[in-house]
Amino acid sequence: MAEIFVVEGDITQRPVDAIVNAANSSLLGGGGVDGAIHRAAGPELLEACRKLHGCPTGSAKATPGFRLPAKWIFHAVGPVWHGGASGEPELLAGCYRVCLQLAQEFGARSLAFPAISTGIYGYPKEEAASIAVREVLAGGGSMERVEFVCFDRATAEIYRKLLK
Ligand code: ADP
Repeated sequence: MAEIFVVEGDITQRPVDAIVNAANSSLLGGGGVDGAIHRAAGPELLEACRKLHGCPTGSAKATPGFRLPAKWIFHAVGPVWHGGASGEPELLAGCYRVCLQLAQEFGARSLAFPAISTGIYGYPKEEAASIAVREVLAGGGSMERVEFVCFDRATAEIYRKLLK
């Protein structure tokens, strides 16, 4: 089973094999963590993303990491929160599952996740974190290291409580 870490900080700087982006379905860039990743990875990333022709909600697609320390970026498209009865939990779980599958395919043994959907997309942080932890515990068996990278202390505390 993977060692699981809660890290406070900027996911773009994580020295792992792959980081996960919280992208939108166009994969053509946005704000929040997506904007930070595109700025840090460089303009080649947008060119690579254009060739992917978008991604459905609940899934993810891979590109190289370009100028990042990470070798790969898995662009996951989380659901927009509409109250929880529109399939949001299953779609969010799908993001984590597909990223863990991509890690296997690409031979990534260390993987860093942001708190997908919990920014602009409005997913309640506790509920999103519990799905994230559940899916990594269930599907992270072949990973060496999985990080939950939190931009603020309050989010990190939510993950720490869940992992106790
Ligand atoms: P979404 O549209 O999926 O909600 P956001 O980028 O708005 O995506 O937010 C997802 C989470 O990523 C939020 O918890 C936000 O605080 C966090 N975040 C924003 N920038 C970074 C960053 N550079 N590193 C790690 N997490 C970040």
